[in-house]
Amino acid sequence: MKTIGLIGGMSWESTSLYYKIINEYIKNKLGGLYSAKCILYSVNFEEISRLQKSGDWEKCGKILGETAKKLETAGADFIIICTNTMHKVVPEIKKYINIPVIHIAEAAYGRIEPSGIKNIGLLGTKYTMQQDFYKSILIDNGLNVIIPDEEDIELINSIIFNELCCGKIKADSKKKFLEIVENLKKKGAEGIILGCTEIVMLISQKDIDIPVFDTTEIHAETAAQLSIG
Ligand code: GLU
Repeated sequence: MKTIGLIGGMSWESTSLYYKIINEYIKNKLGGLYSAKCILYSVNFEEISRLQKSGDWEKCGKILGETAKKLETAGADFIIICTNTMHKVVPEIKKYINIPVIHIAEAAYGRIEPSGIKNIGLLGTKYTMQQDFYKSILIDNGLNVIIPDEEDIELINSIIFNELCCGKIKADSKKKFLEIVENLKKKGAEGIILGCTEIVMLISQKDIDIPVFDTTEIHAETAAQLSIG
């Protein structure tokens, strides 16, 4: 079994889901007392989110790159970064290590491709929805990525950082998210990517009548699958 290196804490609310999903996957596949070999390095998200806000992605890359190196030194065979947004600094992180990084957007595409869906709605932080580092992977694979309007992007971003990352689940925010999903459907979305690892705490497939691609589950399962070969 390979050892999974997790860079977590962004936020710890969703990192705890990764730990559970990875172990459940391995238990279901192998039975008995099988559980995941993994090493978690959980960062201080207050520090990271301040750097995001000030646009200091270079420093973010340095912190996460050094973290990845520590995981490699400790015996990790590959790395997963337990957030969509911080995949912005994957090129920087890769400079610090000799082991692979399992990319969350590539893992998501791996699930979307067999569905045949071409028009995909994307929900995530404003960085993930507006910038290119994430969407380009989907677009380069032939998908048409549909994002919410400017006002809704701000609202989603605020709910992610001020509520979900703080463990607050509000009925009103859920209603708002589902309205935004309806708008994405009107714009042509045939499926929805939950492209932020906390969104599944608020909405999931059972709330939505088109296919939902939950990146937390997909990424964690991809890592678990890879670890057991
Ligand atoms: N966990 C979130 C994501 O998947 C947001 C936190 C962050 O900015 O890293 O993008």
